[in-house]
Amino acid sequence: MKCVFCQFISGEKKEHSNGLPFRILHQTKNTISFLSNVLPATEDGHILIIPKKHHANVEDIPKGTSHELIEHVSLLVKILRKNHDGCNILLNDGGAAGQEIFHSHFHLIPRNTKDKIKIEVFKRKSLSKENFLKLHNSLKRLIKD
Ligand SMILES: [Zn+2]
Repeated sequence: MKCVFCQFISGEKKEHSNGLPFRILHQTKNTISFLSNVLPATEDGHILIIPKKHHANVEDIPKGTSHELIEHVSLLVKILRKNHDGCNILLNDGGAAGQEIFHSHFHLIPRNTKDKIKIEVFKRKSLSKENFLKLHNSLKRLIKD
């Protein structure tokens, strides 16, 4: 069975599961954006930006399309900044990271200075210099491979 985003794109599905209509906000050759229906983080909206073709994870997205996605996100941020103080741009990649729909997508959440939303809160842990360098070196080796 096709994923819900692919069903939106093909026109098979015209509504979100809670009955709100699926409406394209903006599209480019390989990307589209639309309002999320699921627990918008703010009443000012929560936008999803996706590749038109199904790619489960960010590393599966072809180079040209990922470039278009970033440009698309950037355009919407520029527009949202006219009426908001900032934006969170999130991409949950993999179930362990909170991805629920396995069609890679950016979340764009408009923010205001006094909105009291705490998306960016996580428990900070300290790292010794030795472990910091170990981590850096092991990532560096993986990047070279
Ligand atoms: Zn899909």
